[in-house]
Amino acid sequence: MMDFAATKALFHLPDDIIYLDGNSLGPLPKTAAARVAQTVTDEWGQMLITGWNKAGWMDQPTALGDRIGRLIGAPKGHVTTGDTLSIKVYQALAAALAKTGRKVVLSDTGNFPSDLYMAEGLLRTLGPDYQLKTVPPQDVAKHLTKDVGVLMLTQIDYRTGRMHDMAAMTKAAHAQGILTIWDLAHSAGAVEVDLSAAGADFAVGCTYKYLNAGPGAPAFIYVAPQHADTALPALSGWLGHEAPFAFAPAYAAGHGIERMRVGTPPVLQMAALDAALDIWDTVDMAALRAKSVTLCDRFIAGVEAACPMLTLASPRDATQRGSQVSFHFENGYAAMQACIARGLIGDFRAPDIMRFGFTPLYIDEGDVDAAIAIIVDIMTTRAWDAPEFHRRNAVT
Ligand SMILES: *Cc1c(COP(=O)(O)O)cnc(C)c1O
Repeated sequence: MMDFAATKALFHLPDDIIYLDGNSLGPLPKTAAARVAQTVTDEWGQMLITGWNKAGWMDQPTALGDRIGRLIGAPKGHVTTGDTLSIKVYQALAAALAKTGRKVVLSDTGNFPSDLYMAEGLLRTLGPDYQLKTVPPQDVAKHLTKDVGVLMLTQIDYRTGRMHDMAAMTKAAHAQGILTIWDLAHSAGAVEVDLSAAGADFAVGCTYKYLNAGPGAPAFIYVAPQHADTALPALSGWLGHEAPFAFAPAYAAGHGIERMRVGTPPVLQMAALDAALDIWDTVDMAALRAKSVTLCDRFIAGVEAACPMLTLASPRDATQRGSQVSFHFENGYAAMQACIARGLIGDFRAPDIMRFGFTPLYIDEGDVDAAIAIIVDIMTTRAWDAPEFHRRNAVT
C-alpha cells in the first residue's frame, strides 16, 4: 500500500495554499534545496572540472533517464535526459522522419503548440515536400493512411486531460507502416504508461510538471530498442558522439540512447531531478493512478453539485482522462484569479478553460474538499466579477 500522507510530508507546500497546478510546475521536494546546494559547494566548489568524472556528472543524464524509464515502461538504457521538451520533440521527429521514406507528419489539433511549432520549423528546413497534417483528436485513427510517415501525438491533452489510447493507436499506426512519437508531458508521473507494451517507437516528456524537478528541469527522450542504434540524430552535438573526448573532426553517432544527447548537461538542474526521483523511486504507479481517479471524480462531483455555470471540459469517464480536471466558464480567467487570491492555485488556458491538476503525492481528499468550497463560494457569490480579477498577467 502506498502511504500518500507520507509522500505529502516530503514536499515543501506553502501555508494556506491548495496547489492544483502540479501539472504545470511541481512543488519543491524538501531534499532538493540541500541536494542542489551540495552539488554547488561540494562538487562544483571543491572538485571543479574533476566533478565530471568524480561526481558522475557525465553519466547522470542516462542514469536519471533509467529512473524515469521505470515510470513509463521503458527498458534500462533507453531513456536519456537533457535540453528542453521542445528540443526533444524536434530530435525525435527528425530521427523518425529519417527512418521513414514518407514526408507527412500527422498530429492532432489539441496538441501543445510548441510540438506543432517545432514540427513546422523542422519540416520547413527539410523542404517543401514535407507536410504537417493536424486533424481533430477523435479523427486521428481514420487519417492513418499510407502516405503518413510519422504519427506525433501528445497522449494527454494539456487543456482537457483527454487521453489517447497509446497501445491501440500505435498498433493502428504500425499496421500502415507509420512510426509513432508520444509526448508524455502530462503522462509521466500522472498515469500508468507502458511504452514497451504499446510498442511506441519514440517518446519524449518533461520533468518539471508531475515529476517535480523544478523550473527549467531537463526533458527526457526514449528511443525503442529496435531503433536505438539506427536513429539518426539531427542535433548531432559532441556529447552524442561515440567518443566525445577523441575530438574527431567528423561526427559518429554514439551507442544507443547516448546519441540523443546534445551538449553539456545542466548539472545543477540534474541535482534537483535526482532529489525529485528519490520520491518517485518509491511510487507504485497503479496505486497512484487509483488515487488520482478518486480525487478527480470527487472534485467533479463536488463542483458540479453546486456550480451549474461551469461545464465539464474533461472526459467524465476516468479511463479516458489524465490526472487533471478542466471546466469551461466564459469568465474563466477572472474566476481563476479569484481562486488564486484565496489560495487555490490552478490555471487558465484560453479561451475559457479553468484547469486543475491532481497529484496524489501531495494532494489529498481534504485539499479537494477545501478547493470545492472555495470554487463554490466564488461562483455562487460572483466574487470573480471584480476589476482586479479581470486584469491579464503574462503567464496565465
Ligand atoms: C509543457 C509542454 C511543453 C513545453 O516544452 P518546453 O520545451 O519544456 O518548454 C511541450 N509540449 C507539451 C505537450 C507540453 O505539455
